[in-house]
This record gives sequence, C-alpha cells and structure tokens, in this order.
Amino acid sequence: MSGFKERLENIRARMSLAAEACGRDPDSVSLLAVSKFHPAEALRDAMECGITHFAENYVQEGMSKSALLPNATFALIGPLQRNKAKPALLYFRELLTVDRPELALRLVKLAEELDICREIWIQVDLWGEVSKIGGCQPSDVQSVLDAFGASSALPLKGFMAIPPPGMTSAFSELANFRENWRQRLGTQIQLSMGMSDDLEEAIKAGSDQVRVGTALFGERY
Ligand SMILES: *Cc1c(COP(=O)(O)O)cnc(C)c1O
Repeated sequence: MSGFKERLENIRARMSLAAEACGRDPDSVSLLAVSKFHPAEALRDAMECGITHFAENYVQEGMSKSALLPNATFALIGPLQRNKAKPALLYFRELLTVDRPELALRLVKLAEELDICREIWIQVDLWGEVSKIGGCQPSDVQSVLDAFGASSALPLKGFMAIPPPGMTSAFSELANFRENWRQRLGTQIQLSMGMSDDLEEAIKAGSDQVRVGTALFGERY
C-alpha cells in the first residue's frame, strides 16, 4: 500500500480542524488533488482512495494522463495559451486559469462549436504578479466576464488565485474581492485558494477549495 491514504487522511484532518476552528462546516471546503509531475501510477493510488479528479499545470500532461486513466477527470491550473484552448476544453472538465478576454472569447467559440460544457474559474491577481504567474488584474475582471457573456457552455464557478508566497494579508484581500463581486453579480462565486503549506490560513479566510500537491503526492522532481 502506498503512503497516499495516510497523507490524504492527514490533509482531510488539517482541513476539518481549520474549518471547525473558525466555525465553518468542514464539508463546505473541497480538496483539489494537484498531481502535476507525478506519474499515472501515483494517480492510480489516489483513485484507490476515492480521488478521481486531478489538477494539472500542463495541457499535454493532462492529455497523456487522461489517456492512461479513462475514469479520471482533470482540472487545468497552469497558464493556458490560446493555441491550446481546444485540447484544454476537450481533456479538462474545468479550467481555473482564464485571465484575459481574448482567451475567454476563444473558449466560448470553441465550446459552442464542440458542443461541450465546462466550468470556468477566473484567475485573479490583486498584487501585480501577472508577469510571473498569470492572472487577471482587478480592473480587467469585468471584460473577461463580458467576453463569456451569457454562454451557458462555460458557466463561471469562481475565482482562483496564487498569492505571493508569505503574503499573510492576501487571503483576506481575496475574500473581500470575492464578496464584492458576489454582491455585484448576485450569484455564488467560489474561491479557490490555499495550498500544501497554507491551507489553514486560506480556509480561515473563507476559501471554498484548497489545491494540494506536495502534501498529498510528495515532492515533485
Ligand atoms: C502546484 C500548484 C499547487 C499545489 O502546490 P503544493 O504546494 O504542492 O500543494 C496549487 N495550485 C497551483 C496553481 C499550482 O501550480
């Protein structure tokens, strides 16, 4: 037996403790298993423990793994180029890194042509880190939303963010940002933030989804 089960239990315990400590329902926070750079074998171990949805940073890597693991589904959490929009839509069930109107327009056109429905998250960058990790500036969120228009093929699930390491105020800034948009749009908007090292802080600030790689699958090489 691999160590996956133990690591998974450990993560779930950390998530529950963090939620309970601030009076949140532990079931209200979901876990996205980040499998990038780990071989299909590692994902098989995870599937034996009931995890069937995995996050990948590269379109190509997700495609290869989905061919090997037909019962798994994938989320894209790495930067998406327009010329990879089609395979991204075909091989991933949700895209978390949409961050510009041109990309959104391309996705809408393709999703309608392909007649498929995918969940979309807008990656936001409140700290001007865009050159490093991508993300939509706050002033551009509306234009990305406009590009999606009322497309029912690509419903907006929420905002995803990768705050600068060690920036302690980032999670509450994101929570406020989400709250403002929730009021403005009058709809639910999930917030995906928090990773192996800081999921507790993210949950305390209101994260709906933590994305965990290293603490679940081990170091990446
Ligand atoms: C790699 C990655 C993660 C997981 O990070 P860990 O520190 O290994 O848990 C989460 N989100 C994104 C966008 C990533 O690229």
